Amino acid sequence: MDEKEQDIIITFATLLMHSVADVFDISRIREIIGDNPVKEIFLETEKKGFFGKKMAKTLPPSFIPALFSDAVKKIIDILSKSFGFDFTESHLEQIYLELEKQYSVDFTGRIIMPYIPESFLERRRIGYLSKEELEVRVLKKTQELQRLNNDLENKIKERTTELANLLSEQQKAAKMLIRRDLELTRANEKLQKVDEIKSSFISIVAHQLRTPLSGIKWTLSMLLGGDMGPLNNDQKTFLMKSYESNTRMITLVNDMLVADGIQSGKVHYGFKHIDIIDLMDNVLFEVSPQAAKRNILIEYKNKFENLPQAYADPETMRAVLQNLLENAIKYTIEGGRIEIDVKQEPDHLVISIADNGIGIPKDQAKDVFVKFFRARNAVKQETDGSGLGLYIAKSIVEKNGGTIWFDSEEGKGSSFYFTVPLEEKH
Ligand code: ADP
Repeated sequence: MDEKEQDIIITFATLLMHSVADVFDISRIREIIGDNPVKEIFLETEKKGFFGKKMAKTLPPSFIPALFSDAVKKIIDILSKSFGFDFTESHLEQIYLELEKQYSVDFTGRIIMPYIPESFLERRRIGYLSKEELEVRVLKKTQELQRLNNDLENKIKERTTELANLLSEQQKAAKMLIRRDLELTRANEKLQKVDEIKSSFISIVAHQLRTPLSGIKWTLSMLLGGDMGPLNNDQKTFLMKSYESNTRMITLVNDMLVADGIQSGKVHYGFKHIDIIDLMDNVLFEVSPQAAKRNILIEYKNKFENLPQAYADPETMRAVLQNLLENAIKYTIEGGRIEIDVKQEPDHLVISIADNGIGIPKDQAKDVFVKFFRARNAVKQETDGSGLGLYIAKSIVEKNGGTIWFDSEEGKGSSFYFTVPLEEKH
């Protein structure tokens, strides 16, 4: 090793030392370098600037590469561990430039590069690698790239298979869905046809029944009225029973026609503002003979002054009130009591009709609004009914923008409630 070579190595180490002294104190540096005689030279350098160089030159030249290489390696290592790669790299870059200024570019590269750990100053290093070293590096890189490429290809293959599987599963599911959809559409069309046939059958039968039933009613009332000559009491009683049965048949046929009309959307609703109490009075007038016959008292809970008008279809609303009142009378024992109440809420009225009649068994409560449902205690009482009234009432209340519900206890009585909006619902 000639003097110039020693000189550049020592300068490099000294510059590095200076730059480290900016970030670590002397005791820490001593610790980092450890058991290496170069340490003292560095520390001298710190104190006296470039005078330390003289001391370094007292070392036998053959020791210099090993000792300096060890110390430099330790310092660079701790720098990059403490402050990161970028910080260390930029410090080395500055020192390297400084050396290039003082010595020639080639000379600096050839002598200093071996002291700089791999991966630092990589771009510069390549310029000073021998042909063999370069070839080894290119081979290594190529192998690494090849490996990465293989990994990537494998991953792509895996993902492609996964995607292909998913796609075929999706296609299968889509085909199945289309098939199910077609089946359902066909089933639905069939059901609609059957429903239409059933509906027109009910409508035809009911209409056909209505005419003869009206004829019977007319004939019976003539007979009862004595138009065909006087009747004795027995004859009158039998005829009266026939008359009542005939009336029930007419009601049943009418209910069936209404229920069918509701279901097939044939009922027309003409919404307007109406006075619900007026409507109730009207219905009460009609049903009061039935109540009086069984000595049942019907009362309003309040006077209902300043009650706002409701927004509903009067014809269908009337049917709801009539049904609920007739049920209350029908399912209340002789001498019972019915109370009517109307409460005002911000955007609707709540109408309630409460009786102290037979009530509804708890376990059957859920079916009350189902078509043709009649509770077992009602059937036992031998009261007649079609089980259509509440089904019709619920549909009407909902079409009018309200809801219907009830509270009941078997043997104690029932309260039916429904709401009517005050204004048109959008
Ligand atoms: P129905 O023609 O049988 O009265 P509804 O549909 O009007 O048919 O009522 C269905 C069933 O609900 C009735 O059969 C009866 O069991 C029960 N129900 C309705 N209203 C009352 C009431 N106020 N008290 C007790 N049970 C009632």
